[in-house]
Amino acid sequence: MDVENLQSILREYSIKPSVHRIKILEYLLKHRTHPTVDHIYRQLAPQIPTFSKTTVYNTLTLFEEKGLVKSIAIPDNQLRYDLYEKPHAHFRCRECREIMDIPMDFDVPLLDKDNFEVSSVQVFYSGLCDKCAD
Ligand SMILES: [Zn+2]
Ligand SMILES: [Zn+2]
Repeated sequence: MDVENLQSILREYSIKPSVHRIKILEYLLKHRTHPTVDHIYRQLAPQIPTFSKTTVYNTLTLFEEKGLVKSIAIPDNQLRYDLYEKPHAHFRCRECREIMDIPMDFDVPLLDKDNFEVSSVQVFYSGLCDKCAD
């Protein structure tokens, strides 16, 4: 994907394109592995001399505010980031520790409680993936 395309995705979400933001978006599009701030920082820092962990963190926070990514909290893990496409569940394999997307073609029951305002629901499975279960 070229820089112009990346810039237009950012603009679509009312995010002003900058070199850092473009690099981080590019990374998220290429690596559908639910990376943490650390992962992204370690991968991109050698290419961008002015990069810092704070930059990564602030950029992802902004992306999340604008609805471009979603952070996912998984027990015993650092916060991970996912490009937001459509709702999906996550599965973590206890052997290889990989976190995979699971299509969510079912409805999660709504919370039936007065005066509660739900802003997000996360469905999370854990166990053994097909490779590790063999
Ligand atoms: Zn596995
Ligand atoms: Zn995901």
